[in-house]
Amino acid sequence: KRLIRRKRMAESIKVAVRVRPFNTRELERGAKLVIDMQGNQTIINHPKGEVDPKKFSFDYSYWSHDGYKEDDEGYMHPEDPRYCDQKRVFEDLGEGVLTNAWAGYNCSLFAYGQTGAGKSYSIVGYGVNKGVIPVVCQKLFAKIEEKVVANPKDEYEVTLAMIEIYNEQVRDLLNPSTLKIKGGLKIREHPKKGFYVDKLTYHKVGSYESIEIKMDNGTKNRTVASTAMNATSSRAHTIVALSFVQKTKEEGQQAMTKTSVINLVDLAGSERAASTGAAGDRLKEGAAINQSLSTLGNVIAALADVAAEGKPPGKSKVIVPFRDSSLTKLLKNALGGNSKTVMMAAVSPADINYDESLSTLKFADRVK
Ligand code: ADP
Repeated sequence: KRLIRRKRMAESIKVAVRVRPFNTRELERGAKLVIDMQGNQTIINHPKGEVDPKKFSFDYSYWSHDGYKEDDEGYMHPEDPRYCDQKRVFEDLGEGVLTNAWAGYNCSLFAYGQTGAGKSYSIVGYGVNKGVIPVVCQKLFAKIEEKVVANPKDEYEVTLAMIEIYNEQVRDLLNPSTLKIKGGLKIREHPKKGFYVDKLTYHKVGSYESIEIKMDNGTKNRTVASTAMNATSSRAHTIVALSFVQKTKEEGQQAMTKTSVINLVDLAGSERAASTGAAGDRLKEGAAINQSLSTLGNVIAALADVAAEGKPPGKSKVIVPFRDSSLTKLLKNALGGNSKTVMMAAVSPADINYDESLSTLKFADRVK
């Protein structure tokens, strides 16, 4: 059953795992490497060898631990062919997001993992090592320009919304005046269009630069609660939603409109409250974050079951628990049906993070 399921889902969900270099904290503590990758397999070894190594296979296993060199500008590229750089991640994952968006599919790209494991590096990037989001945006606008030159009557519109889900409450990061609303913005349900955030603002954008400025502003409005693990890390989920409308008309044909939504989701750190030394309110946060994360896992696993049945849309009896969390309500349209999903799971290479890395690999294994 699992094999069939994998085959059917292969088209609509892709799972990648990436391991980063040691960070300073790990180096200072004399950390040992516990992750290995061979082809599409990711292997995690127990730090003391007390448990057998565990093997997982994913669509992509990205080795970014060593074997790289930085060029004059600071871009990290392969010295050893095993090393996977940002360019390769974009070619494997970002390119597909773009193709699907042009074809009118909704797409979602998730980054999952413990705080500090490399979620932002992969999807947003640092400096010249640009992640998937900026490159997707740049290429989207570059292609729009090309199309408009070739066919000046075509119209394209890109709008941006940016929200945060913190303790199951929704906030509009691009509308600071609503940030203080008690309980956050309401999630409502439209009989045809499904769940939506009441009063959410959508911003028309004409270039990657304007997206970048808006995202920077949005990032400043995020709820940052420090934990012992990483003082600057957010305990909230951030969703950047780009909606892309194409109005095209070919010679002698009816005008055509295609709409797709690209959701880029930086999930909150997956670490359990216990290992971050959190207490009280922080603990409650941890619980709510895990509620959204575990619901996401349940939803994706249920969708895989639906796909495995191969019944016509709406005929399956499998219950997909979209309603169990704010995150899955809002991503409902982008996850079911004809949508494409990419999950990037980030792991630390170090023995001290063995438990968290194992739990990330198990999560990634469950959604594929
Ligand atoms: P997260 O978003 O999961 O909290 P970050 O992406 O911010 O984690 O990564 C933490 C640190 O590790 C950053 O300093 C980042 O530059 C570095 N890092 C993460 N992934 C990589 C990678 N693949 N290559 C090089 N450095 C990385």
